[in-house]
Amino acid sequence: MILHYLKVEAPSFFSESIEEQVLELGYNYEAKVAPINFEIKATPIKKGCSLSCSFSYSATLPCARCLEDVKVKGETFFIVELKQKSSTDEVLKEVEVGEEEIDEIFLEEDIFETKELVTEQLFLLLPEKVLCKEDCKGICPNCGVNRNLTDCKCGISIDPRWSPLSKLRE
Ligand SMILES: [Zn+2]
Ligand SMILES: [Zn+2]
Repeated sequence: MILHYLKVEAPSFFSESIEEQVLELGYNYEAKVAPINFEIKATPIKKGCSLSCSFSYSATLPCARCLEDVKVKGETFFIVELKQKSSTDEVLKEVEVGEEEIDEIFLEEDIFETKELVTEQLFLLLPEKVLCKEDCKGICPNCGVNRNLTDCKCGISIDPRWSPLSKLRE
């Protein structure tokens, strides 16, 4: 939704949803994010508006070793402040309020897309790397089988550094 943050005159709540989406997290690394319902409370502040937002998410990401789907879930709550940009302000600033850090976003126009806020948070929340299980054996670099499912013959190849020893044994 497009929020006209300078026109928020009283605290107001609204809820929205985002359809299933695919986020590119890196080279060949995408997250398929299930539909998200989020809630935002907008409160007017001096020269702007404060937004508190919460949502839970679930996403499917590829295991870093075997590429099988891994489900990731979580929830979040955060606050940002939208303010009208004056010529001296930066676009984004982090302010510490007590223990918390609040992002201040400075905008030139009275337009803010709330869905983008959620998508940006997802980029911060989704892990850079996931494993299907801690001891995932991954894909054999030689024959390409998923070694969690099949034992391939390549696995028994001896580290070349040890081959003098095996010769001694013969
Ligand atoms: Zn795996
Ligand atoms: Zn193999």
